[in-house]
Amino acid sequence: MIQNKAPGKDVSIEDLKEKFPLAAKKNDTHFSSFDVNGIKFGGELIPIMAGPNMVENEELIVNTAINVKKSGAHFLRGGAFKPLSFPYRSEKYNETRENGIKWLGIAKKEAGIGVITEVMEEKYLDLVCDVADIIQIGSRNMQNYPLISEAAKTQKPIMIKRHYGASLRDWLGAAEYALYEGNSKIILCERGVSTPHTHRDSSRFLLDLQVVPAAKELTHLPIAVDPSHATFWRPWVESMTLASIASGADSIMLEVHPDPPNAAVDPLQPIDFEDFSQLMVKMEKISGVINRRVLDV
Ligand code: PEP
Ligand code: MN
Repeated sequence: MIQNKAPGKDVSIEDLKEKFPLAAKKNDTHFSSFDVNGIKFGGELIPIMAGPNMVENEELIVNTAINVKKSGAHFLRGGAFKPLSFPYRSEKYNETRENGIKWLGIAKKEAGIGVITEVMEEKYLDLVCDVADIIQIGSRNMQNYPLISEAAKTQKPIMIKRHYGASLRDWLGAAEYALYEGNSKIILCERGVSTPHTHRDSSRFLLDLQVVPAAKELTHLPIAVDPSHATFWRPWVESMTLASIASGADSIMLEVHPDPPNAAVDPLQPIDFEDFSQLMVKMEKISGVINRRVLDV
């Protein structure tokens, strides 16, 4: 347990919690849980969200949805609206967007799986809500409070990814904006924090697993981890996923692609169907050690 003074600050944990009364735990055993499509977040089950970075085309997303579902994934991830780091957009990006939402809808129906997808602009909120079972607020928009508030008002479950430069305190502030709209289905997702290094010398992002137990001291909200974005490097995804489960993650987001080296976005990070299927089995084993599970019984 952390003591009543936050490290290096003359502020007690109780004073800190007053800044986010809705996100703050009321007591040590206070952890919220809720259902999305009958799948419980914040309980014994660790829901798995898997799919490509970008919804590249209908065939790819339908194929991925069917395969990840077969291996036990609970939600299909995939970006139709993408916060690409540079403005020189690929042809595939221009084709996705509205089409991507439509293709996600087809995949959802064909595979019988829920969808999580990102909203970047309020004007596309209705469109995104047509298909999303969980609305993703990307790391870059973690402090776009008007967007978070509008997304929360839909009363759809929201997952807020942690900005790679944000403190735990600021991340919880973002959750408070969503909770303030009367939406109690809020998930937080760690996806790696910035380091002074590039991924060639060490890592572009550092997966902050310590933030999982740290967050759980302060908030009752479920905490997800996305090892794909954090590692940015396929060979490290398996070990960091298993470590995420061991750290207490309540959900895992993974990039899975039928042909990883040829993924339209971030081709270094997705794993293929076979590796995903084997990773599900390993995740199940690790979660058993802490009396949790990833597979539906
Ligand atoms: C994503 O999950 O597609 C994504 C862009 O993630 P992040 O916001 O964490 O970079
Ligand atoms: Mn990305």
